Amino acid sequence: MARVYNFSAGPAILPEEVLQEAAAEMMDYQGSGQSVMEMSHRSKVYDNIIKEAEADLRELMNIPDNYKVLFLQGGASQFFAEVPMNMMKNKKAAYIVTGQWAKKAYQEAQMYGEAVKVASSEDKTFSYIPDCSDLDIPEDADYVYICENNTIYGTKFKELPNTKGKVLVSDVSSCFLSEPVDVTKYGVIYGGVQKNIGPAGVVIAIIREDLITEDVLPGTPTMLKWKVQADNDSLYNTPPCYTIYMCGKVFKWLKKMGGLSAMKEHNEKKAKILYDFLDESAMFKGTVEKKDRSLMNVPFVTGDADLDAKFVKEAEAAGFVNLKGHRSVGGMRASIYNAMPIEGVEKLVEFMRNFEKENTK
Ligand SMILES: *Cc1c(COP(=O)(O)O)cnc(C)c1O
Repeated sequence: MARVYNFSAGPAILPEEVLQEAAAEMMDYQGSGQSVMEMSHRSKVYDNIIKEAEADLRELMNIPDNYKVLFLQGGASQFFAEVPMNMMKNKKAAYIVTGQWAKKAYQEAQMYGEAVKVASSEDKTFSYIPDCSDLDIPEDADYVYICENNTIYGTKFKELPNTKGKVLVSDVSSCFLSEPVDVTKYGVIYGGVQKNIGPAGVVIAIIREDLITEDVLPGTPTMLKWKVQADNDSLYNTPPCYTIYMCGKVFKWLKKMGGLSAMKEHNEKKAKILYDFLDESAMFKGTVEKKDRSLMNVPFVTGDADLDAKFVKEAEAAGFVNLKGHRSVGGMRASIYNAMPIEGVEKLVEFMRNFEKENTK
C-alpha cells in the first residue's frame, strides 16, 4: 500500500484508521448484511448512525442543549445564501471580509439585503486579520459574519470580533474541530466537512435555537429553511448518508485521540515545525502576519514562480502531494489538518531543507 502525504486543502486527508474501518465494514455494516451506502435512511440501523454522530459531536464540542446540530447539503457555498435567507429579518448584516470565502459570502448576501462590509484585509491581499475590537456595526444589523480560518490565505481569527451584541455567524470549514471552541459565543457555527472532518457532501451547522424560525425571506426554498431541517432532524429528505457515517467515524477517532484540547496541542506542535522552518529558511517564506497564522493552512513562496513550480513537481514525485497554492494566489500551501501526522510535516520540512540546499548556489 503506497500512501502519500496529502497536503490538499480539501477534499483532504482522513485518518487511516477511519478509512480502514470503513473498508472493513463496506460489505456488511455490523451484521446488517448491507453497506451503509445501500441502506434506507429511515431504517433503525441508519437512525443509530446519525444519532450517534450528533451525540459524539455534541460531546466533542460541548454543544449546549439550546443549539441544534444540522447535517445539510449544498456545501459551504450554498450556506452563504442560507444565512441571509434565514437570518435577515431587518435585511441588514455586517460582514468582515478576510479572504475569498468571506468575500463570496458577502457578495451572496447582497442578493438578499444590505450586506455592509465593516472590515476587510483585501488591501494587503488578505495577509492579516483586521482589528475587530471596535467596528462600526450597524444598529439594526441582524448578524455579524466572519470566516474564522481563511483556507486560501492561511490566516485565522485568534480572537473573535466584538460584535457589539449582535449575533455572530462563523464559517469554520477549515478549522472545524481543530481546537476547542466556546459555542455560546456564536449564533451559528458552520462548515463544509471536506476540509477537516470527512468526505465532501455535508455541511454541519450548529445553530442557536432562537435563530431557527418560520420567519424567513420570501421565496426561500423548503430545503434551505433551517426550521424544516431542524424539525426533521436533518432527515426531511434523503441525507448524504455515507458522508454522515464517515463524519461519525472521525468524531469517534477524535474522542479516542483525547478530544479537541489534545487536537489543539497536536496541531500547534505540527504547525510550529513548519513555521519555524519558514522563519529560518533563506529560500521559503511564509506569506501572512505571524500573529494571524493559521494552524491548518500554511501558504509559502520562494519568491520565484519557476522555482515554486519546480518545488511542487519534485515534492510530488517524492510523495508530498497537493502542495500547489490556490489558483488565485500561486506559490505553495500545505494544509495540515487534524489527520496529518507529525511525521508528515517533519518529512516535508526535511524535503524542503534538502531542496533549498540543492537549489542554492
Ligand atoms: C472550501 C471552503 C468553502 C467552500 O466550500 P464548498 O463546500 O466547496 O462550498 C467555504 N468556506 C471556507 C472557509 C472553505 O475553506
